[in-house]
Amino acid sequence: MTSRLYDESRPRRLTHFLNGEAHAGANDRFGEVFNPATGEVTARVPLAGQADVEEALTAATAALPGWADTSPLRRARVLFRFKELLEKNADELTALITHEHGKVLSDARGEFTRGLEVVEFACGIPHLLKGEYSDQVGTGIDSYSLRQPVGVCAGITPFNFPVMVPMWMFPVAIACGNTFVLKPSERDPGPALMLAELLREAGLPNGVFNVLNGDAEAVNALLTDPRVAAVSFVGSTPIAQHIYSTGAAHGKRVQALGGAKNHMVVMPDADLEQAVDALVGAAYGSAGERCMAISVAVAVGDVADALVARVADRVRKLRIGPGTDPEADMGPLITRAHLERVTGYVDLGVSEGAELVVDGRGFRVEGHEGGFFLGGCLFDRVEPSMRIYREEIFGPVLSVVRVPDLDHAISLVNAHEFGNGVAVFTRNGGVAREFTRRISAGMVGINVPIPVPLAFHSFGGWKHSLFGDHAIHGPEGVHFYTRLKTVTSRWPSAGELSANSFIMPTH
Ligand code: NAD
Repeated sequence: MTSRLYDESRPRRLTHFLNGEAHAGANDRFGEVFNPATGEVTARVPLAGQADVEEALTAATAALPGWADTSPLRRARVLFRFKELLEKNADELTALITHEHGKVLSDARGEFTRGLEVVEFACGIPHLLKGEYSDQVGTGIDSYSLRQPVGVCAGITPFNFPVMVPMWMFPVAIACGNTFVLKPSERDPGPALMLAELLREAGLPNGVFNVLNGDAEAVNALLTDPRVAAVSFVGSTPIAQHIYSTGAAHGKRVQALGGAKNHMVVMPDADLEQAVDALVGAAYGSAGERCMAISVAVAVGDVADALVARVADRVRKLRIGPGTDPEADMGPLITRAHLERVTGYVDLGVSEGAELVVDGRGFRVEGHEGGFFLGGCLFDRVEPSMRIYREEIFGPVLSVVRVPDLDHAISLVNAHEFGNGVAVFTRNGGVAREFTRRISAGMVGINVPIPVPLAFHSFGGWKHSLFGDHAIHGPEGVHFYTRLKTVTSRWPSAGELSANSFIMPTH
């Protein structure tokens, strides 16, 4: 598929996608999209203002009654066709992820597949929209419940998964009968536009899915507009808090997934080879720009020296290059500003007194001197009081904290501000069980470093990694995007109305 949303200009000029078509936008503000492997500006993206938000919400509001009334099976059939089109266009979509985000192609394919799985889940949503029924709750009276769409939903997504994270949201929302306005990250907005085109090709009516490009201005207009019923957000914690409090104050349902600092606890009895392998992939894959990346290794007891030595060896051998290089383990960071931020954290760790075992600063890739590359960095003897431990770095930087035993490991994890994912590596089932029960995090891996739940489960952290009451996709997603209605029903032929209707009815 060659996208009609891109013109031939260099850099390309992107658009919004509103009411089924490309839309140049009424604002004169633009953002720059880079190829992170070269540093070149490849596209300019319009940043929506109030008039564009108005256009998007008018389209989504107008499309709502018809789509909400469309039978669940017909809605699902559009998603079945969308799934086929996604598969047909997988290579192009994957290449676009790598082009704008920088991650290696195989990892972009993994992201695509995890997004596709949510579409597959959404194809079966009619089954989950069935309500409950109780016969004869009183004489001649039946009671039943149904789940109805909430209305116009907005999704605000981060740069690190430009396909998967939007697909955590809109397939479920749409299958449940809602209309959707997606505000993707302004740093890699291209894939969202391609998804919109594929949905149109799949037969989705105009206005049901809209892409509004922009930044805080567009987000804040969506958050305060009474036409938006529900907001799904994935991004950093300060913004998640802002989205949650502003959205809730304006009467909306909000699920706001925030940042993370995921720990992997390595017990002395762990299979060290397996643990090192898992740690290196989970810490440095996608250059550490994953909300489920492991950024802290907790070495328990006498495992520490061997663990650090083996990880250091592997980090020095990481193959770093453009995402299009099939030999590369990881690619560049998203922007120069982010590269400088992450490098600043490495400087900070040194000044805080942590031991920098592998220093990736100043890393260059031949032929890609303008790219935003950073080599893998490894800190040992990190203390919980240090900022490099407390704060999310979101880059290829792993910190090792040494603790004497399991109790200390659990206390360390539980005292951290974030509680997204966590993992324990051990051969002892009793240890794994105790860890699982006592740990304060939303997603737990046992000898699995990145325990991302599959589409038919739900994804979400604890503490400052999630604000709101619902995790995302799976059954929790269906509940988030639907409202419960419970009906108590009696037909006149079923019996006389009570003579005394002034008292609380009991059955
Ligand atoms: P970000 O918070 O900077 O941006 C996320 C979205 O919010 C973007 O669409 C952006 O345009 C918008 N935004 C930014 N500033 C805003 C403001 N002041 N007001 C309103 N909207 C604003 O996040 P990012 O840098 O794109 O992504 C990385 C972050 O996302 C990391 O913290 C990572 O942990 C987190 N993340 C979390 C999960 C999860 O499931 N918990 C998944 C992926 C990423």
